[in-house]
Amino acid sequence: MNLPDMQAAKKRTSENVDYIYETPQITDNFQGKKYYIRTYGCQMNVHDSEEISQLLENIGFEETKEMNNADLIILNTCAVRENAHDKVFGFLGRCKHLKKENPNLKIALCGCMAQERSVVEEIMKKHSYIDLVFGTHNIHELPNYLMNLHNGLNIEVKSNEGNVFEIGESYKRASKYTAWVNIMYGCDKFCTYCIVPYTRGKERSRKSKDILKEVSCLKEKGYKEVTLLGQNVNAYGNDSEDELDFAGLLENVAKTGIERIRFVTSHPWNFTDAMIDVISKHPNIMPYIHLPLQSGSDRILKLMGRRYTREEYMELFKKIKERIPNVAITTDVIVGFPGETEADFLDTLDIVERCQFDGAYTFIYSPREGTPAAKMPDTTPMSEKENRLHRLNEIVNKYSLINNQKYLNKVTNVLLIGESEKDSAKLYGYTDTMKLVNVQCDESLLGTITPVLITDTKSFSLDGIVEK
Ligand code: SF4
Repeated sequence: MNLPDMQAAKKRTSENVDYIYETPQITDNFQGKKYYIRTYGCQMNVHDSEEISQLLENIGFEETKEMNNADLIILNTCAVRENAHDKVFGFLGRCKHLKKENPNLKIALCGCMAQERSVVEEIMKKHSYIDLVFGTHNIHELPNYLMNLHNGLNIEVKSNEGNVFEIGESYKRASKYTAWVNIMYGCDKFCTYCIVPYTRGKERSRKSKDILKEVSCLKEKGYKEVTLLGQNVNAYGNDSEDELDFAGLLENVAKTGIERIRFVTSHPWNFTDAMIDVISKHPNIMPYIHLPLQSGSDRILKLMGRRYTREEYMELFKKIKERIPNVAITTDVIVGFPGETEADFLDTLDIVERCQFDGAYTFIYSPREGTPAAKMPDTTPMSEKENRLHRLNEIVNKYSLINNQKYLNKVTNVLLIGESEKDSAKLYGYTDTMKLVNVQCDESLLGTITPVLITDTKSFSLDGIVEK
């Protein structure tokens, strides 16, 4: 995606360098100033916000949870779904109001929406009270942008991915027990409905030595669990001849000895036997796999450009279930893709019945401008799409409950990571299969992997007590 009419990027020392450590200095300009960050979208964005927070704190900013107190508001946006887009523009209305009250307030917008030409054009026309728009490829340059901000709208969006930048252990991590670790950026799959390849660029893998160093460092700091992150993690290393593949990387991460490892997201097309072998061999790789299906109809899978058939998906599913003991598998399903007939939808219900997933994220298709699917004729009424979603969710929830019931009266290890939202006498955490468990226990167990006896099961969570 080219954005030639945008302000030319300032000269950057980092250009053409594939490995840098930023060493930002605290400046008087920002000492004690407050930033408020709002994040939309996926885990990649959540982790990007951790990086942004650290970059801001490196130059003197402090975080505030009250946007009314902020000197800088950052919106880290998502372009994957239409409603995320609407929410961002809704939120911008509140920011505009605050800026009227406090003209010194700075407003910055970043993330996937910033990479969309139509969004930038809309901002230029209607939201010029925003001070800074920066893209997904140049987050690490935020301190420079803030130091050199001129009056009016500053646009710093790179249309090319450039190189992978290393900022060392510079993340203000949201948790003390679990950490996101990016292993790669971008996606080359170009599924016809997806905006990610346009907003996040082509696949670029981090060097394995940097990833392993980061994981070892997290282990030393007492982190119990790492999640290896990428739009398509099992394509790891495909962009470099001398790099490990994902199975090799996973094996080496397992050897660091960190207690729990998981990864998101896997494309079924790149899921190799070697990966299954590594997962089954190392007890610290969690037996949990998110394997997006999207549709059970071969015709729709082809229109989506997913590169596998329903048979191939089910074969892979079966192989994973057979070779990884007690594995939990979750999925994503889109209903109402352009041209989806009742027969196509019944194929999806059929595969969901057969696979009996532990859980599924289900969505009604929403067109993203600039993707091939957005131009496909779509005649299915919204009421019919909603009806399909409802029918799908009934089956998904049924199997979610059935799978959870298998834990009843059994003892399972739970990493306890926080106070339960509904009951402050309980902590919540996750099994190694990513089942949410609310546990009646003492706060001192926070951050520990604790054996828990499961006493009750629901569709979306389990209850338990500490096993003595
Ligand atoms: S694999 Fe497909 S759905 Fe996933 S990020 Fe890439 S293009 Fe999007």
